[in-house]
Amino acid sequence: MPAPLVTRVAPSPTGDPHVGTAYMALFNYCLAKTTGGRFILRVEDTDRTRYQEDSERQITESLTWLGLPYDEGPDVGGPNGPYRQSERTDIYRAHVQELVDGEKAYRCFCTAERLQEMRHAQRARKMPPGYDGLCRGLLPEEIEKRLADGVPYVVRLRVPKDRKVGFEDALRGKVEIDGKEIDDQVLLKSDGYPTYHLANVVDDHMMEVNEVVRAEEWITSTPKHVLLYEAFGWTMPTFRHMPLLRNKDKSKISKRKNPTSLLWYKDHGYLPEALVNFLALMGYSGPDDNEIFSLEQMLADFDTSRMSTSGPVFDMDKLGWLNGEYIRMDSEEALADRLIAHWAYRASIGAEPNPEGDGPLYDWIFANGGFASETVKAFILKTMPLMQTRIKTLEEYAPLGRCFFLDDVAGFSAEDITPKKRDLDGVKAVLKATHDALAELTIFDTASIETCLRGLVEPLEWKAREVFQVARVAVTGSKISPPLFESMELIGRDETLARLDAALALEA
Ligand code: GLU
Repeated sequence: MPAPLVTRVAPSPTGDPHVGTAYMALFNYCLAKTTGGRFILRVEDTDRTRYQEDSERQITESLTWLGLPYDEGPDVGGPNGPYRQSERTDIYRAHVQELVDGEKAYRCFCTAERLQEMRHAQRARKMPPGYDGLCRGLLPEEIEKRLADGVPYVVRLRVPKDRKVGFEDALRGKVEIDGKEIDDQVLLKSDGYPTYHLANVVDDHMMEVNEVVRAEEWITSTPKHVLLYEAFGWTMPTFRHMPLLRNKDKSKISKRKNPTSLLWYKDHGYLPEALVNFLALMGYSGPDDNEIFSLEQMLADFDTSRMSTSGPVFDMDKLGWLNGEYIRMDSEEALADRLIAHWAYRASIGAEPNPEGDGPLYDWIFANGGFASETVKAFILKTMPLMQTRIKTLEEYAPLGRCFFLDDVAGFSAEDITPKKRDLDGVKAVLKATHDALAELTIFDTASIETCLRGLVEPLEWKAREVFQVARVAVTGSKISPPLFESMELIGRDETLARLDAALALEA
């Protein structure tokens, strides 16, 4: 067994919890769990301008929802806390002081105006952007004077410009960059908060993180981190930069092109197991060609050599397919429970109702005792054989199953119910015949209903497909419905006859 790995996911609470956070959490979780190590959640909240109040709670809830628990974190505690960077500012200041004392970092008093002019000049001369080093060589007395005068300053990393800085990426091999190309990175901002780079390295060290698994976009920051490890004299972790999630056009995943919020997936009825499986496929393949595997299976034969670097496309169609597969893997009972819990959750967050189906469904639930009602559960369970194979997300249940919950299915047009090359009089003849034949049945079950409707086809001289379209639209209100005969049985004789009757009143 490899050495225990201590890994972490380090999101910034700046908005909705991101699919990228879940993706990184998953791989960090796997590496820690398969080596007997620990998985940490650290909240990187030092950017106070982008901080969002609810974001941390949403991150912790999302990781719980996905089934990716962390051993240490802001809400569960742990030996190396606090796990919120805003509560660690003294630690960072002390470390910055150590670097300044050791001349690995320096105070920079340049004003915002000067830095802006410098950038303009660099752009005009087509030079790469970066600090020009004006304050690198300030004499001690010049520094003392400015400090005494209260001139605001930042602290910058003193990057050695005369050598290369490199590291070995566990996924990509050697990465090396010329010191000249590395900016003298700000470590401590003038507001006394550290930048990402400083806080991230100090925390990874203090929290004993020995493998840093994060998205590819941080590769260019890593040489700065390497310099920080060197400056402190600390052992470096292994770095493993995972491929970025991408939109279909291969650009970095963005909310304009794909939903990126984990909350969106939860609200829209994606199953956490399916989402985890999907995210796994973005950077990993199982030992065989099978694309469907649970987190438990992934952990059971996890192998870092099957982690990949190719740019994975976040394909919603594929996620939909996978989600449907997971829906079908549930027992009917489990799926009924999941659906009811999903509706209760949506109601609890005041989610936008789905205009095509939520209204009738929710009215019916409340009229039948609410989310915890046995009557509700019993009926939903009865619909499972009709619905389970026909929905890809929990959200799709309500619009497809609306015929079970509507008091009145009217609202379809004469055009909807009339097959091509037929007219409304013909339709009414079929409706009447269907009504009368069904009214005769002594047992109103799927088999009898089917025999009865098929028996009408010949005498009416219509095609079976046409007869069924008329019956379907009249009884379910739509050309798209769960299977007709089964649905009629569930809707019941009286209601089925009443709906056929009501359709007879349709006007062209
Ligand atoms: N706070 C960074 C982020 O939001 C962490 C990056 C890292 O893992 O080092 O992604």
